[in-house]
Amino acid sequence: MTVLQMPVRQIGLMVNAFARASTCGSRLFGFLDLDVAIKEAPHARPLEISEGTMRFENVSFSYPGAENRQTLRNISFQARRGETIAIVGPPGSGKSTMAHLIPRFYDVTSGSITLDGQDIRHVTLSSLRRAVAVVQQDAFLFTTTVENNIAYGDPWANESRIERASESAQLHNYILGLPAGYKTVVGERGVSLSGGQRQRLTIARAMMLRPSVIIFDDATAAVDAATEQRIRSAMRRFATDRVTIIIAHRLSSVMHADQILFVENGEIVERGTHDELLAKAARYKALHDLQTHAGNDMLNDDDGAS
Ligand code: ADP
Repeated sequence: MTVLQMPVRQIGLMVNAFARASTCGSRLFGFLDLDVAIKEAPHARPLEISEGTMRFENVSFSYPGAENRQTLRNISFQARRGETIAIVGPPGSGKSTMAHLIPRFYDVTSGSITLDGQDIRHVTLSSLRRAVAVVQQDAFLFTTTVENNIAYGDPWANESRIERASESAQLHNYILGLPAGYKTVVGERGVSLSGGQRQRLTIARAMMLRPSVIIFDDATAAVDAATEQRIRSAMRRFATDRVTIIIAHRLSSVMHADQILFVENGEIVERGTHDELLAKAARYKALHDLQTHAGNDMLNDDDGAS
């Protein structure tokens, strides 16, 4: 379980209780604003996205209470709209931490993160979190209809948008096969979905937000190869109009990234495309070889582009 998942789940439970008390409350939006540690600047303005460029400039970070230890050191990179950035590296190197700074689950200790030149600490939290969607490994489902589960990020969603989002997330046909289609109740007290179905539902949810930045936090780690291909194909379709960040433990999901950042002990130690990094014959290549020799044939598979 990552740092992020605990609080989100707890908040999710609160939202769920609220959702049951109020019919349209189940489409609650912006629940992450309940974060207590992060404060909105007094004169914060709504984020304005034009070019869709995200930039990390010399970002260093220590977790609150662990100030003597720098979890991230001098991280700098830039991503333009339509680009996919993959973050790879050994466990504990700081990959998830890097991604979690973007929606401001924590604030940088020094340096800055900007979206189209606006420091994320100077914009309103609600506008930032509308612009930055996180697809996690273990998606939370509310006990409500599958339709509400997809649409909760957008209280004004109409049926056709919900269906389009679930089509792109490769979930539509499955939903049509459920007893009451989009009105089927899922979650703890409803129909249970498999790990892969839950992940695709979260992708559909994220698509409803039309975010400027989407973060896949190892989104395909717990599913079989066929499901992974369907998810990756959904992700690629989604990537054209935004910045996509993939935190990956399996290199299979990063081969097509425009830029791969190899992080070790909180620093970017290598960067480049898959081919460039293999040619460098250093850490990325070593990880690649390790995974290949470990029998992970995912590296050679066709990614099922459609
Ligand atoms: P990765 O995603 O590469 O596995 P993380 O970003 O999760 O790595 O963690 C980087 C480092 O930060 C690890 O040493 C981890 O133990 C530490 N860490 C993660 N979350 C917290 C936290 N909430 N408080 C203190 N340290 C943390």
